[in-house]
Amino acid sequence: MSTVAVIGAGVGGLTAGYELARAGWKVDVYERWPGLGGQAATYDVGAGVLLERYYHHLFTSDDDIASLCAELGVEIGWHRSSVAFFAEGASHSFNSPLDLLRFSPLPFPARVRMGLALLMLQRRHKAVEPFEGRTAQDWILSSMGRHAWERVWGPLLRGKFGDRAEDISMAWLWGKLTLRRQIKGAEARTEMLGYPRGTFETLFMRLREEIEGRGGRVLIDRPAARIARRGEQFSVTIGANSSFRIGHDPRAYPTDGEEAYDAVMATVSNPVFGRLLEDDLAGSLTPGYLERLTSIEYHSAVCLVLEMDRRFSPFYWTNVADPGMPFVGLIEQTNLVSPEAYGDRRFLYVANYTAPDDPLQSLDAEMLLARYEPGLRRVNPQYDPSWVRASWLFREPDAQPIVAVGYRDRIPPMETGVPGLMLVNTTQIYPEDRGTNYAVRLARKAASALASASARP
Ligand SMILES: Cc1cc2nc3c(=O)[nH]c(=O)nc-3n(C[C@H](O)[C@H](O)[C@H](O)COP(=O)(O)OP(=O)(O)OC[C@H]3O[C@@H](n4cnc5c(N)ncnc54)[C@H](O)[C@@H]3O)c2cc1C
Repeated sequence: MSTVAVIGAGVGGLTAGYELARAGWKVDVYERWPGLGGQAATYDVGAGVLLERYYHHLFTSDDDIASLCAELGVEIGWHRSSVAFFAEGASHSFNSPLDLLRFSPLPFPARVRMGLALLMLQRRHKAVEPFEGRTAQDWILSSMGRHAWERVWGPLLRGKFGDRAEDISMAWLWGKLTLRRQIKGAEARTEMLGYPRGTFETLFMRLREEIEGRGGRVLIDRPAARIARRGEQFSVTIGANSSFRIGHDPRAYPTDGEEAYDAVMATVSNPVFGRLLEDDLAGSLTPGYLERLTSIEYHSAVCLVLEMDRRFSPFYWTNVADPGMPFVGLIEQTNLVSPEAYGDRRFLYVANYTAPDDPLQSLDAEMLLARYEPGLRRVNPQYDPSWVRASWLFREPDAQPIVAVGYRDRIPPMETGVPGLMLVNTTQIYPEDRGTNYAVRLARKAASALASASARP
């Protein structure tokens, strides 16, 4: 039986582990965090109630994860979404073409122009290639006009990509606007969003059971510290328990043993993968591979989770398109999924994406809440800090790859050039916006590539 070490127990690593176990591999999954699910992991908010560290939902077009859930008996509940845009001091409902026509921060002709441009993009442009060489800003200015850029798209892109907003490829925006949801049929009026019953943890637990049921191991709080080549095999040096407290650099972890494998599938971010490789192994990668790893920049997610004693807004998702605001999104989880699912408690995520060295990165939950207070009050003038029952802060360093023009040429392939060593991560999701669905798709593809490569004589 061939053996494989999967590095990372996010949805990608667990899916790859599951598929490889089904294909007859002996699978060990190593995970740095003391829990499953990576970016979609949950935590205990108290009394055994679980909630995702970062807001997560599924789209009706997310067929890969939906089929995985169906296969494993994980039920997805579908909920009516409600979206708003906060601009010019007010939240504007933004769920349907009619809402766009009523969107007062834009002059009326600009609203019509924006709607038509969106419709044309969805109807006429089925391929990404024509958009790869131009920025989203360039396309928006020429197709929707200056107002649409200045009042809607510019602030949104700055929220996600900071000072790199103007470099973002139209290929990324094309993916966001065309692959996810079409403005037609019943969904033109209300979008339905999915959320696994019992949180995303249910899916991760099922994947773990399936791997372990086939003789594999899912080792949480057991990071990989080093990967090296030893003859025909790979050796994985294992980091000691609690290494996650040290941070993300695997070279800083105290080590606790070594195991040998026929193959290694890493599902970690590019910087972590680069740091895991011993020099000899790094030198055997396809020429230029290491450069590709470092050529992709990421922005970090900074997510403050607030337990509120009441409803904060009428919307699930509020895009904050006002440059004066200290955060870029408000996601009121319990306006999508009923508070009953969380022991009758209510949760609001306050979302930000920043450059890795942004000063916001150094604030704790209390300081961040104080910093956000004027912004929260602008969205809901009644808001009072006494509404907050508890707060938690999560930071994800390699959350959002910066998809600038020319991105396709920088993507590191899954095959690294060393037979049996594969990298599978969010930077390879293109032109779609990264998400759990695509992590599942990529993991299945990688597992089948590894299984068929090793079956070759
Ligand atoms: C704020 C935010 C909101 C999001 N919202 C959505 C959403 O609504 N819908 C959606 O579908 N997707 C959403 N996503 C994206 C989604 O979470 C990711 O695309 C997906 O979870 C990526 O899965 P992955 O397994 O590829 O990577 P990850 O989840 O990043 O998994 C990688 C794993 O590797 C582990 N690791 C790191 N170093 C080591 C090491 N040395 N040894 C062992 N393990 C290690 C990490 O701890 C992690 O568990 C969101 C992401 C963020 C940050």
